[in-house]
Amino acid sequence: MKMNDYMEMGEKYILHTYNRYPVVFEKGDGVYLYDVDGKQYLDFAAGIAVFALGYGNKDYNDALKDQIDKIIHTSNLYYNIPAVEAAKKVVEATGLSKVFFTNSGTEAIEGAIKVARKYAWLKDSHRTDHEIIAMNNSFHGRSMGALSVTGNDHYQEPFKPLIGGIKFADFNDLDSVKALVNDRTCAIILEPVQGEGGIYPATLEFLEGVRRLCDEKDILLIFDEIQCGMGRTGTMFACQAYGVLPDIMTCAKALGCGVPVGAFVLNEKTAAASLVPGDHGTTYGGNPLACAAVSKVFDLFESEHILDNVREVGAYLEKALDGLVERHDCLKERRGRGLMQGIVVCGRPVGEIVTKALENGLVVITAGTDVLRLVPPLVITKAHVDEMISKLELCL
Ligand SMILES: *Cc1c(COP(=O)(O)O)cnc(C)c1O
Repeated sequence: MKMNDYMEMGEKYILHTYNRYPVVFEKGDGVYLYDVDGKQYLDFAAGIAVFALGYGNKDYNDALKDQIDKIIHTSNLYYNIPAVEAAKKVVEATGLSKVFFTNSGTEAIEGAIKVARKYAWLKDSHRTDHEIIAMNNSFHGRSMGALSVTGNDHYQEPFKPLIGGIKFADFNDLDSVKALVNDRTCAIILEPVQGEGGIYPATLEFLEGVRRLCDEKDILLIFDEIQCGMGRTGTMFACQAYGVLPDIMTCAKALGCGVPVGAFVLNEKTAAASLVPGDHGTTYGGNPLACAAVSKVFDLFESEHILDNVREVGAYLEKALDGLVERHDCLKERRGRGLMQGIVVCGRPVGEIVTKALENGLVVITAGTDVLRLVPPLVITKAHVDEMISKLELCL
């Protein structure tokens, strides 16, 4: 079959919830993707901030193949070796205390919301009217709970009523958060670097201020590190660069580097006074195959010095993008940290640049309404950055 045949077949049988770009990727190698016709693309999207290690990492692939031959699934009624090993690594990397593995990011958010409500229910003599403060312009996922804390009317409107007790403050505006706090507030949820909303890093003042507020009032602070975590911004988790830790952290995307897996991670205080057996569960979550991936990802981050590479190449990328913004009137501003960067496009649709980039053999994506988003595999080199810039120049 030709590329067009696959696209037609996809449109015939797959529910149309995405306006897909006209390309069918067949395989990957390092930081390059290849379509059905064999055309090569430099990948600066990594499957939406997922494939951190690049395609075809032999150690990673072998670990998965070995696990497939041993056992793929058992269930959470029993212990399994990869889950136990992965859990230790997640807990140590986050600096928190206990982890629950999920199958996706949105499920990690659902779990975090349930933890926050249960914690408050226990603390406040079983009150059931607790509130959560979320941020405008945020993104936390598509299931009902996660959608309810996603500050985007367009995503929410057709699916109302959502879960109750959610209020929205402005990101990086501590006063707007304080104005919403009352004795029913049980949690504040935010992304340390907003991703889908358009790549907005939190200010240090804001994160420190929210942390202080939560400590004063025993409100749980939830950091959604699903996109900005796992080394993307130069520290294992974005909040670590700020020196601010949450009570609950959610993680997914690059956690399994392509195998569907997420997690919510709790500090000691929260883990000790929230979910107990019977409160929460999942059939697949934390299965041996997914956890073999997670476990290997943490090993490879260390042995391949991923964080060092993100810091070095991230700094180079920032400079290169700042130069690009200077040279082109249609680019207004660069925002981001490490290998999570956005450029604000003005005067022309950002989708048009993405399409042109694909024609030129470069994969980039959008964020918000007018931001070109660059979230490449974390193993890219400076030479890849140069190649990306010259391809992008052709589109501008
Ligand atoms: C992608 C994303 C999610 C949702 O994760 P899924 O795996 O798509 O459910 C939640 N929060 C953030 C910050 C994300 O980037």
